[in-house]
Amino acid sequence: KKRNPGQPEFVQAVTEVAEDIFDFMADKEQYHSAQILRRIAEPDRVISFRVCWQDDKGNIRVQRGWRIQNNNSIGPYKGGIRFHPSVTESVLKFLAFEQTFKNALTGLPMGGAKGGSNFNPKGKSDGEVMRFCQSLMTELYRHIGADIDVPAGDIGVGAREIGYMFGQYKRITGEFTGVLTGKGLEYGGSLIRTEATGYGAVYFLQNMLATKGMTLEGKTAVISGSGNVATHAAEKVTQLGGKVLTLSDSAGFIHDPDGITQEKIDWVKDLKSKRRGRISEYCDEFTGSSFTGGKTPWGVPCDVALPCATQNELLGIDAELLIANGCIAVSEGANMPTDLDGVHVFKKARILFAPGKAANAGGVAVSGLEMSQNSARISWKEDELQKLLLDIMAGIHSRCLEYGTDATGHCDYVKGANIAGFKKVADAMLAYGVV
Ligand code: NDP
Repeated sequence: KKRNPGQPEFVQAVTEVAEDIFDFMADKEQYHSAQILRRIAEPDRVISFRVCWQDDKGNIRVQRGWRIQNNNSIGPYKGGIRFHPSVTESVLKFLAFEQTFKNALTGLPMGGAKGGSNFNPKGKSDGEVMRFCQSLMTELYRHIGADIDVPAGDIGVGAREIGYMFGQYKRITGEFTGVLTGKGLEYGGSLIRTEATGYGAVYFLQNMLATKGMTLEGKTAVISGSGNVATHAAEKVTQLGGKVLTLSDSAGFIHDPDGITQEKIDWVKDLKSKRRGRISEYCDEFTGSSFTGGKTPWGVPCDVALPCATQNELLGIDAELLIANGCIAVSEGANMPTDLDGVHVFKKARILFAPGKAANAGGVAVSGLEMSQNSARISWKEDELQKLLLDIMAGIHSRCLEYGTDATGHCDYVKGANIAGFKKVADAMLAYGVV
């Protein structure tokens, strides 16, 4: 806290990891003497810059942009770009820190980074978004590169924004390289990248349920968010025989007791990514559903829950409510959606609880595969990529089991993910000496 005043999200993320790593390091002098945890928790660099752009009325607008390069010990920096008014240096530092562990868990050679801006894309025209993206890239391009730092999308940054940013990078440098992931299929993108985070979070959930001899068939699911991760998580739960009851956005949540079917999910995808509407409009379209403003969906009874919107959207009291209502498993599609109190409640209840750094790693894993395809100038087929995603999620699950299972056979997935991710990065750092 003293080293990072005014950065609560960053302190929260480091505290959660440190709780597990201190135990693990207790008898491992090599990590102590090399100050490895302290070094991972100090970003390699924090780049902050002005982003100036002109709105449709001709006004000059000024935003702040950042790129946090946390750690490149096991590969080039890699992590998304977020556009949201709530973006601060603290939020991006926590995300870059988490990303370092997540990328290590995938087994692919990627370091950790995150970037973004406090720009709010809501209500902006395509032209305004394009001018903003071009202005941001005009500064960012000098800090990134296919072997240096490879950004991707995140909240508020989807196919449209990646297209504008990639176009500007290419225009400035004259290079066509895999400097961004999440690109369109016409210009170097990978199949299944769009679906990978949401699908991966459900595959992870499936792996956890399987350890108890259960499947998703017939299970009810409460999901938050209605963006890329939430809609694809809902799609995969539905495909595997589960029934999705809720979706949400920053204004509130919808509850559909009949289940949010594939047809309804397609309607939400169109609403959110093309028409850029609000989730409350769902109730005008589908009878029997209801909208609750200003609330999260955790009070709706369910078997499994997937928080897929944003950080700290599931608090200690929500966690208690989920457990009281019979929820047996939680898989985090978003990054750090459960606050520290909530994490402690889930750990104490010993339910199946997958932290985002393990459960939502499918997206960055397929981004890693997009980088490989770009380097080799080839495109893999969909079935090959689907299989790789399944294998990678199963691999992450096994690594969590390896480091998180106690003598009773119970797995603390938070601990398992923290230790497995830490060990890989820490051992690489030890090999480099004091750098
Ligand atoms: P999108 O922009 O596609 O969707 C974000 C969703 O979360 C929207 O429904 C949005 O509602 C809601 N939301 C955003 N901010 C808030 C807030 N402050 N309070 C309540 N709801 C909010 O983003 P993604 O689906 O890509 O990302 C969702 C989460 O998943 C994030 O935590 C992200 O870091 C994480 N993630 C994403 C990956 C990816 O591949 N896209 C990879 C790994 C993790 P509204 O429309 O009202 O803004």
